[in-house]
Amino acid sequence: MLEDVLNKMNSAQYQAATSDAKVLQILAGPGSGKTRVLTTRVAWLVKERNVDPDTILVVTFTNKAANEMRNRLQSNDLLGSDSTRLMMGTFHASCSSLLRRYGQKIGIRQNFTIADTAASGKILETVLKELPKELQIYGKPASYRTAISKAKCQALTCDMYDAEHSNDIKKQGSEKRKISIVYRAYQQELLKCNALDFDDLLMEGCNLLEKHPFIARSYRYILVDEYQDTNLVQYNLIKLLTQDNKGLTIVGDPDQSIYGFRNADISNFRKMQTDYDNVVVVNLEENYRSTTHILDAASMVIQHDKDRLPKSLFTNNCPGVPISWLTSMEADLEANAIVDEIVRLEKYSNGILNHDDFCILIRINSHSLPYETALNKAKIPYRMRGGLRFFDRAEVKDVLGYLRLTANPYDSEAFTRIVNVPKRGIGPVTVKRVRTLAEQKNLSMLEALAEVAKSGGGSDANRSLPQPTVVEMSRFLEMMSSFQALAASQTAVGIIVETVIKESNIERHLHNQYDKDGKEVFKTHWSNVEELLDFAQRFNTSSAGQDNNTSEATSSQTSTQPANESDDSDALVRFLDSTSLDLESANDEVEEGGLEWPCVFATGCEEGVIPFALCTTEKEIQEECLLCSRLLYVGMTRAEAFLYISEVNQRHNPWQQQWVECATSHFLADLPESLYQRKFPLLNASTREWLAHLLDRPLPEETSVLESEGEATYLKNDALEAQRYRSDEGEEYDVWDDYERNSSDRNRYRSY
Ligand code: ATP
Ligand code: MG
Repeated sequence: MLEDVLNKMNSAQYQAATSDAKVLQILAGPGSGKTRVLTTRVAWLVKERNVDPDTILVVTFTNKAANEMRNRLQSNDLLGSDSTRLMMGTFHASCSSLLRRYGQKIGIRQNFTIADTAASGKILETVLKELPKELQIYGKPASYRTAISKAKCQALTCDMYDAEHSNDIKKQGSEKRKISIVYRAYQQELLKCNALDFDDLLMEGCNLLEKHPFIARSYRYILVDEYQDTNLVQYNLIKLLTQDNKGLTIVGDPDQSIYGFRNADISNFRKMQTDYDNVVVVNLEENYRSTTHILDAASMVIQHDKDRLPKSLFTNNCPGVPISWLTSMEADLEANAIVDEIVRLEKYSNGILNHDDFCILIRINSHSLPYETALNKAKIPYRMRGGLRFFDRAEVKDVLGYLRLTANPYDSEAFTRIVNVPKRGIGPVTVKRVRTLAEQKNLSMLEALAEVAKSGGGSDANRSLPQPTVVEMSRFLEMMSSFQALAASQTAVGIIVETVIKESNIERHLHNQYDKDGKEVFKTHWSNVEELLDFAQRFNTSSAGQDNNTSEATSSQTSTQPANESDDSDALVRFLDSTSLDLESANDEVEEGGLEWPCVFATGCEEGVIPFALCTTEKEIQEECLLCSRLLYVGMTRAEAFLYISEVNQRHNPWQQQWVECATSHFLADLPESLYQRKFPLLNASTREWLAHLLDRPLPEETSVLESEGEATYLKNDALEAQRYRSDEGEEYDVWDDYERNSSDRNRYRSY
């Protein structure tokens, strides 16, 4: 109940949740209840201030966060079924659904494709190939993409970009001139494909609201979580949505701003204070998540950010144990030691901790392999976040490619991806011909293919195609039109996806592709396809009520909308939106809980990793250092009870085939010794007691099982060959002694 939740709040939280201020900023450190306050405030607005839930928009940065908040509102009986009427979602998802509904007013077709990062990269590659060679000199497509995205995040259209840099652009061969040409060509290509990239969703969202302000009228309250991650376009969007004196509440923590590379801008906090009248600011200072030791260590690390505004943060939680500092000789041993420690903690916590209470933070994707290997060996199930998105896996993208082409036959990127998957003799030369024809005659890719197929058997020797290819082409076209018919007839997405998987014979393709690598690889990839199907089958039910950010209040003004383009007929489009807008992996979808874990391992804490070695210019180094102090800060403050800092002494450089010595990350090198110990914590009865209390879990009855295993055990860390001695219950493992003792072994590893 709302009242219970409010009663449990401290006075600052209470004030923030129940403030009558029109414009409210809640600024606070990690774990101080920002998200909790925001959720409660939504319930309070509905229950105590009678705000219609249909008019409340809650913006989060991931779909997962939105789902999580909706769940909390539902399950705590804060709002009950009213919570399904709230509009909740990411900036991108909110814009995409506005554009699907009203985009026609600004010339955007209703069935546009969302070009995700990979697709937009492909489009850029295509564009660059067709532009003069010297344009490729500025850099890889990725550098152009970064530059274009930056422009878009600063709300600059092609024309505005040119105007902004008019002097530079006049200069032949200048970087800005190149960017300007590529930006324009890229936009034209997107337009041809009937596609919008992520940044376009926001920019066009702003464009729409600017031209048709009535659309914003359906919102009365906007609430934004993780405000430190907003960029200028998102700022503008909020501004447009809150015109006419609407309610606005934002919560955030400038110290946790880690998306500078996505052009997030923390000056948005200050900008908001000047752009709005009577902004009320509430600071929350009590941390509810972590032990004193963890909080103190994290606070030391964030001091490396010299420009930050000092904030005070304290906790009434128990001091817990000092954080543990692990030094391993190299990465495999680091992973083994950590996985062994997970096993130990689970075992000696006597049931308080289990598999999902651990989080291993890895800075560089490729460093995950030793952990995956060690976890598999220990038979511990795990979930990867932030690596390759589920929807980015090749086999999943193939199926999605068919679906995208079905929904939008102009999508040349999808066409190119799947027209020869599985192989049907339609090679790059033919694809190019189809593309050219489509451009010349303004045809969709499928129409153009049909023309090529027709003319394929013709007399012109250059243009003729082998008969079997022509047959394959017709088959492909027939198949595609059957998919289109299926989608048009409002068939459930699950059935469409199933049909596509079967008819396209993607299974054969996967088999052929992985023949060499053996069955196992095929199995993994096929299981991803199955998972996608499963996701699609669940989509119809789980998506109900998510896409409701339209208001009856404005329906009279939207009567220009053709009836056949109502929400019902575009289930496939909505499904595709959810796959491209979900920045998290599909597996995370049902996961409960915010970003906090009883036990966190911050790994690879060395110079070269944190901060990353690849920065060259002074400016890059500065930015990387700022990012790293915040990354570490965010990472460390995810921990509730146990925090581990872990580093290795040497890493193998595969290019030079040699071991490179590593120094401790300078962000941690000056951590006072009172805050950490070079051993793992003792898990005895008193540890279990504070642990259960901190995590609000039942204290297990003490059993005699632990005491019966009295002898010393050996850690299966064959390099350190470290012996662990167990005290009466639990055990304490001195990492440092073992390291010293075995340091002569290090040469052994050099000869790998
Ligand atoms: P972050 O900066 O990491 O986003 P946050 O400020 O959003 O953190 P929350 O996730 O809302 O913090 O809260 C952190 C933890 O503290 C959660 O487990 C939450 O349930 C708990 N918590 C917050 N306020 C209280 C309170 N008044 N009493 C008890 N627990 C609380
Ligand atoms: Mg939060």
